Amino acid sequence: AKEQGRNNYQLYTHSMNMRSMERLQMENDMRRALADEQFILHYQPQVNVTTGEVIGMEALLRWKHPERGMIPPGRFIPVAEENGMIVPIGKWVLYQACKQNKEWQDLGYAKVPVSVNLSTRQFVQQNLPEQVAEVLRETGLEPRYLELELTESMTLDVEYTVKTLVQLKQLGIQISIDDFGTGYSSLSYLKKFPIHKLKIDRSFVRDIMDDPNDAAIVATIIAMARHLKLQVIAEGVETVEQLHYLRENHCHEVQGYYFSEPIPKDKAESFFSNWNEVAAG
Ligand code: C2E
Ligand code: CA
Ligand code: CA
Ligand code: CA
Repeated sequence: AKEQGRNNYQLYTHSMNMRSMERLQMENDMRRALADEQFILHYQPQVNVTTGEVIGMEALLRWKHPERGMIPPGRFIPVAEENGMIVPIGKWVLYQACKQNKEWQDLGYAKVPVSVNLSTRQFVQQNLPEQVAEVLRETGLEPRYLELELTESMTLDVEYTVKTLVQLKQLGIQISIDDFGTGYSSLSYLKKFPIHKLKIDRSFVRDIMDDPNDAAIVATIIAMARHLKLQVIAEGVETVEQLHYLRENHCHEVQGYYFSEPIPKDKAESFFSNWNEVAAG
């Protein structure tokens, strides 16, 4: 995320400097993309390496642009944050992810939560809990099969965050802190906020084998999560060495290219099917 943060910043300043015509064009493009169903979700499996189970799928947004091809989220979400389009786009993501997960469950695939990334603009919408409740009602997804991913930067207003998280928790959904360790917020919020899970940021996992400091940070986050009775998952696991280090340090849940990159719906379905065989055999 160190690297990603820099990229986002560059894009952000770039988009801030874009001529207003260009920005208006981008906003119109996004509006049309929503109407024309140019957005799609990919899914990245999360696995428990000890039990051998698929434990979740993270929904990750892509834009299939008619002229520019597949645009990754890092290239348009900062702009959508800025022009406000992230709110309707984010609603679509939430609805689509819940609907897909319900469909998978009805088809007999593993019943596991789908994780949805929230943006700050969505989180500060006063009626977010009602919106979430409505999507769950409309799609028929049981609340425990929805996980919302927040980042530390969204939780700076402690009073608002506690109030909102309590309401979300009452719905029966799961809450995780994404990119954990990269934000600036105080650790004291971990005991104040009703959250379920920490997601160790990929930037720490990436250098586990080369950088003793990153290895120490990862081991410490895992130990802290255990003491606070929070679940913990490592992001960005690419190698078997990283996997071994995580297991030795009692982190059993992982997500990363080692098992699968984010994949479209149909590939996710074959991942579900084939994974059972792998896990069983
Ligand atoms: P994120 O939530 O931290 O998602 C993880 C990112 O890391 C994804 O990039 C994923 O493809 C990538 N990744 C996963 N495993 C590995 C690995 O082993 N190695 C490496 N190098 N990368 C890995 P992606 O899909 O490009 O998404 C980038 C970011 O865009 C996400 O970071 C998230 O912050 C944001 N994003 C994606 N979808 C949404 C969405 O629906 N709403 C909002 N608000 N943000 C989203
Ligand atoms: Ca990230
Ligand atoms: Ca995420
Ligand atoms: Ca992340």
